[in-house]
Amino acid sequence: MLIRFWGVRGSLATAITAKQVEAKIRKVLELASPADILSREAIENFVSNLPLSLRGTYGGNTTCVEIQTSENKTIVIDAGTGLRALGNALLSRGKMQGKDDMAFIFTHSHWDHIQGLMFFIPLFIPGNTINIHSCFTDIEARLRYQMVTTHFPLTFDELNATKKFNHIPEGETQDIYGLSVSGKAVRHPGGCYSYKFKQPNGKTFIFCSDAEFNLETLEDIGPYIDYFFGADVLVFDTQYTFEESLQKIDWGHSSAAIATDIAIKSEVKKLVLYHHDPSYDDAKMDSVTLQAIKYKSMMAPNHPLQIVSAYEGLEIEV
Ligand SMILES: [Zn+2]
Ligand SMILES: [Zn+2]
Repeated sequence: MLIRFWGVRGSLATAITAKQVEAKIRKVLELASPADILSREAIENFVSNLPLSLRGTYGGNTTCVEIQTSENKTIVIDAGTGLRALGNALLSRGKMQGKDDMAFIFTHSHWDHIQGLMFFIPLFIPGNTINIHSCFTDIEARLRYQMVTTHFPLTFDELNATKKFNHIPEGETQDIYGLSVSGKAVRHPGGCYSYKFKQPNGKTFIFCSDAEFNLETLEDIGPYIDYFFGADVLVFDTQYTFEESLQKIDWGHSSAAIATDIAIKSEVKKLVLYHHDPSYDDAKMDSVTLQAIKYKSMMAPNHPLQIVSAYEGLEIEV
């Protein structure tokens, strides 16, 4: 399966500001030497070696992750604001134009995980079938509730695609487009589920955002270590720095340090830092990423765990 990130921000969509763009240009110009801009090739080389915070951005859209299965079927985890661009991309790939089907799976229904749904063009096209899965039994009612006329001009029934709902009881494994999918409840205000996706060849991807793991919960972490164990890719909620996580108990999120500890204990191969705080700019995200990598090499220098931060456009083959 191929995993693509369309929204990586937590809590609130966060547009980059004009001042931030200007600051990036200034910084890049300061770094460039005459040799770096001598030819197109030199410029290409210079730009591609800049940190992400200078050559691009981590992105401001909220939670939305696409799984493209090996049979070219689409499963979307959560419908944050990143979903709008994913809808357009599916249409431009020739998919979901009126005879196709795809799946959504919802971790929970906080705004930052459902707000893109009304801007997902494939939902408006008759003939499309959208299969909506969740460990929550009432996900249909929750999605309908955000589309009442006081909050949005269209109702859920005016989305012309066929919508089918399916409950995945926690702990049960179900097949979605050839992947074995199961859910596990995580600590988060109002409740939330992590999902595990396993291919027939055993390769495993786990999505675990909006999940609070802190020093207190580490004592009872055994069942979670079993659940995460051996994952090829683990996307994990790292909204806070370690210091912030000590102050924001019960806010429902984790830090990169805790995520790294858990990933090492669980023999995870790749940890993806996710659900970035809206207050973090791109430079801060570079430093969060570097600090997590440094922490890992201090705690487990010989462990092969890789750590990356999610950004819009990141693709990972599992
Ligand atoms: Zn969230
Ligand atoms: Zn949440």
